Amino acid sequence: MTRSDTLALVPDKIRHFINGEFVDHSDAWFDDRDPATNQSLTQVASGDAAAVDQAARAAREAFQAVWRDLPGRDRARYLNRIADGMMRDREALASLETLDTGIPIRQTLGQIERAAENFRFFAEMATRMTGEAFPNPPHFQNYAIRQPVGVAGLITPWNTPLMLETWKIAPCLASGDTAVLKPAEWSPITAERLTRIIQEADLPPGVFNVVHGLGESAGAALVSHPNVPLISFTGETTTGQEIMRNGAQYLKRFSMELGGKSPVIVFEDADFDRAVDATLFGMFTLNGERCTAGSRLLVQDSIADRFEAALAERIRRIRVGDPFDETTELGPLIHEEHWQRVKSYIDLAQSEGFQVAVGGNRPAQWPQGNFLEATLLTKVLPTMRVAQEEIFGPVLAVLRFHDEAEAVAMANQVRYGLAAYVWTRDVARANRVSQAVESGMVWLNSQNVRDLRTPFGGSKWSGIGREGGVHSFDFYTEWKTVHVALGTHPIPRVGAS
Ligand code: NAD
Repeated sequence: MTRSDTLALVPDKIRHFINGEFVDHSDAWFDDRDPATNQSLTQVASGDAAAVDQAARAAREAFQAVWRDLPGRDRARYLNRIADGMMRDREALASLETLDTGIPIRQTLGQIERAAENFRFFAEMATRMTGEAFPNPPHFQNYAIRQPVGVAGLITPWNTPLMLETWKIAPCLASGDTAVLKPAEWSPITAERLTRIIQEADLPPGVFNVVHGLGESAGAALVSHPNVPLISFTGETTTGQEIMRNGAQYLKRFSMELGGKSPVIVFEDADFDRAVDATLFGMFTLNGERCTAGSRLLVQDSIADRFEAALAERIRRIRVGDPFDETTELGPLIHEEHWQRVKSYIDLAQSEGFQVAVGGNRPAQWPQGNFLEATLLTKVLPTMRVAQEEIFGPVLAVLRFHDEAEAVAMANQVRYGLAAYVWTRDVARANRVSQAVESGMVWLNSQNVRDLRTPFGGSKWSGIGREGGVHSFDFYTEWKTVHVALGTHPIPRVGAS
């Protein structure tokens, strides 16, 4: 689908979806912009506390009246219908995602399949939810069941927006909770298209609701709504901190998927070519706007010159350009403000003393839009800001280490702990380092390849809690233990003497 075909699919206005209907709740609208041109694409409803309240009420009613008591297999049927709709509209969804985020079309096409798979996967999980039995003969047979909690507020970021929305909506609905989604304000278009697909799947009204808007108004209202006991948030660490503060008064349960500064640790005995390929994939796909990006390369000094040279040669050849061009590997960054932020890190070279070995500028052939060259920073030291802070753009920082102990110390010398990637052929070392590195997830001799059954999430400042597989149910459901007396066990008699 071309850019102009895709533009024709964008609605003039993006509205909230409450109780099964698209609604205009207020007169306030904001612009959503095309990252390739910074021209307005559409107008988006700016939700306020009243819109959030209406959505939360609809979700609460649907929870109590129908959704929580529906058998898992019936919920699964709805989820599979949503997945079918997504696959039918795969090309439109991918093209709209590319238009709105600047992520190259080749990459968004793959993501839509993954996003649809989230619904299929959790549909299957919904039919397999089990409890636990605790036989305690002769007097008791105790058991524990998972019960849905209520309304979940789902707050999502602009990087891979559709993927991350489905990653929350699917387990939420599979568990028997109902949802109010607050999509990111810089990338609302695929949320709108997904909402149409969900509407067609004919879910009972109120089970799924969307309130668009800014974080500080719509997002904050959702977090402080008394009848939204669950908040699943993906975004920046500082936003997560604010959300936890604001939700504390109602003692909400939070799932926090936050920022990262994940290390790629390459030892001298690694498979050199595969490590180069994986490092480039992990850093420069999704425009470098990937939470699990391996944005800190720690390479053993004995192979560092050769490794940096191999990376530099490839990074110079990364094709930056129109995200609708199938040969493009790196599209424009999401927003002008974000471009400035990423560029400001590269500009620290002067004051911090690292070297911009490749890239670092706007490409000459793309004077408009938020284009940035793929960038390699060398001579980076662990305490520099570019080694400590999440840049969230196509910027790879290279640090050098001497031995295993130094590699582990360096890997752990940041406040984040989302992912780590370890490259070595020494099995014992691979496992030692994986266990010593402070992160929620490690990939050994691999790029990031997801397994939906495994716990996903970060440690330290990268998050709280895990989602994925049965771990998602730990967040979206609550255990209830039932103690059953089997007969006439002794009961101490009070006041009987
Ligand atoms: P962000 O924190 O700015 O915004 C995320 C969402 O929170 C948006 O919908 C925003 O409107 C909303 N929000 C902002 N302030 C709010 C408030 N006070 N109350 C309620 N909601 C509020 O993040 P972003 O810039 O959209 O996304 C990039 C960040 O997300 C990066 O740090 C990245 O690492 C992180 N991320 C993490 C994961 C993960 O799984 N750990 C995945 C993807 C992205």
